[in-house]
Amino acid sequence: MLNNTMYELGAMRSCIRELFEYGLRQAKAVGKENVFDYSLGNPSIPAPALVNESIRDIVENENTLQVHGYTSAAGYDGVRKAVADDLNARFQAGVRPENLFFTCGAAPALVSVLKALITGPEAEILTVAPFFPEYRPFTEANGGKFTVVPPDMEHFQINFEALEAAVNANTQGVIINSPNNPSGVVYTRETLERLAAILRAKGEEFGHPVYLIADEPYRELVYGGVQAPWVPAIYENTVVCYSWSKSLSLPGERIGYVLVPDACADAEALYCAVAGAARICGHVCPPSLLQRVVARCVTQMPDLAAYDENRTLLYRELSRMGYHMAKPDGAFYLFIQAPDGDSEAFSEKAKQKNLLVVPGTSFGCREYFRICYCVSNDMIRRSLPVFEELINGK
Ligand code: PLP
Repeated sequence: MLNNTMYELGAMRSCIRELFEYGLRQAKAVGKENVFDYSLGNPSIPAPALVNESIRDIVENENTLQVHGYTSAAGYDGVRKAVADDLNARFQAGVRPENLFFTCGAAPALVSVLKALITGPEAEILTVAPFFPEYRPFTEANGGKFTVVPPDMEHFQINFEALEAAVNANTQGVIINSPNNPSGVVYTRETLERLAAILRAKGEEFGHPVYLIADEPYRELVYGGVQAPWVPAIYENTVVCYSWSKSLSLPGERIGYVLVPDACADAEALYCAVAGAARICGHVCPPSLLQRVVARCVTQMPDLAAYDENRTLLYRELSRMGYHMAKPDGAFYLFIQAPDGDSEAFSEKAKQKNLLVVPGTSFGCREYFRICYCVSNDMIRRSLPVFEELINGK
């Protein structure tokens, strides 16, 4: 006998992974240069030089036993202080080191927060489409009810009427992700203020806080002078889940944090519940070496020139061809309307031409498909005629 939920989660094939693996097989069959793979969000700019320099220096010059030893579950005090100082310098965030709980990336940070908030089968977690598909299993496998607020199809900000109707007495938390995967949209301050007002009013109506879970692995990936507003300054009951997977191009190294600011309702208890949730997921401590790297690199900003060049080229050329898409101010994705409104059929047609794009169905928006532009600029240029053929129905 096995746990069937876990079996099914393990056996289920991810559409993105399948496309990616199909791309690898096709590359062998027709040549790598003839496959245009926009499926997977693996950073394509290298980690800043200081990351590798720090790793070398730490391994060569710091105490080996400590470098590879256990740390406290929440992370080294000094490292948490370095991150708190950086957040305070950039956002006047008022963060204390004790507000930070380091994790192995944003995914385990989210799971810990959700586990901490899901009190029973009636507890509900809301998210706004389009959304990162893992939110669903993270919520449901932890015993909660997962509800999707339909998208604002015009600007991919928030459909407030639908959100207001969806929040109810069982709503424990609302997950937002800005800059957004898959749309590339950055929520404006106005959007966040309106969201805060609704959640505040609902919290008062239902007599308990509705937490906002700000999933922010793309916070620093913004273009053209756009800034992602600091959400805890706008809504007091915000918990932040962060990772350096994208900002330092370190997705395989696994380092991030949960931030529970003092202003959150029941902040101390919530922090404790996050630590407890992490513990029963088998979290022992965040990687010691990576914590030390983060402390040295925390003020590094990614060099986004290559992503920006790809973004500008794709947005300009695809718009010229007649594709419609959300304005991509952040992350490294474009979310594009399928010409006939069916992204599944479009993705299948594109696949026949070795152009791999992800249907929007699992992101909660079947009409759109996602492309990930952390690829070579050359591949983008060679793929443009295929996009043109597809929109012309060829
Ligand atoms: N949240 C979003 C929106 C993501 O796109 C990703 C990864 O792509 C994650 C969370 C998980 O990030 P991490 O690698 O830090 O676990």
